[in-house]
Amino acid sequence: MQWSLEKVIAKTYHLNFKNQTDLSEVFWRSQEYYESPTFKKKKFTLDEFREHYIENSDKDEFTYMTDWNGFNTPSKYIRDVRAHHNPEDFRDYDHFMFKIYDFISSMEGDEEFYLIGTYGRGTEQTGTYNHELCHALWASNQEYQKKAKKLLEKCSKKSLNGMFKSLKKMGYREEVFEDEANAYWSTGVYDYEMSLSNKQLIKFEQLFKKFRTGARKEIFNA
Ligand SMILES: [Zn+2]
Repeated sequence: MQWSLEKVIAKTYHLNFKNQTDLSEVFWRSQEYYESPTFKKKKFTLDEFREHYIENSDKDEFTYMTDWNGFNTPSKYIRDVRAHHNPEDFRDYDHFMFKIYDFISSMEGDEEFYLIGTYGRGTEQTGTYNHELCHALWASNQEYQKKAKKLLEKCSKKSLNGMFKSLKKMGYREEVFEDEANAYWSTGVYDYEMSLSNKQLIKFEQLFKKFRTGARKEIFNA
């Protein structure tokens, strides 16, 4: 498994993998524990998750490990997965995630942090990485979230409703609508139903750019 870890902004780390399946295998459990409408904060096994995922998709096989390009999770959810899930269900991928958690924790002095996951080379330039970084900022930087919420308040009802409707269709829970709307509008990846005036889009993009700048420092390569 080839991967690298770097600190991208305060309390935010980026774990990049060469392969998409390695990325998904490492992240799936904490991501679903964090955000799944069905499994959020629940104890579940890989078999249970696999079965549920197939049932709710239009395919006959388990495609999760190649369905998603990016992941994001607050450190608390990795810690809780380790504490609450059945250790017998853990595989090497889970133990790898816990090692990463311990490594970052040792540097952050037990402070909460945020972990972003992507795959492929040059990921830093892509919409996926920026989208996940936007979620990290929203979750970890109160000043950023406050300013982004102010921008959302200034959007027209029509734009917001269009965005929220699309998010619902994509399977997002209502609690994350604002967070997602901000992430989509700040990073320029959305379709026409989610559109917003150019003038407002620029404001979202500028706010994100202002907060995303920080020292990039490579920490580990394997
Ligand atoms: Zn998102």
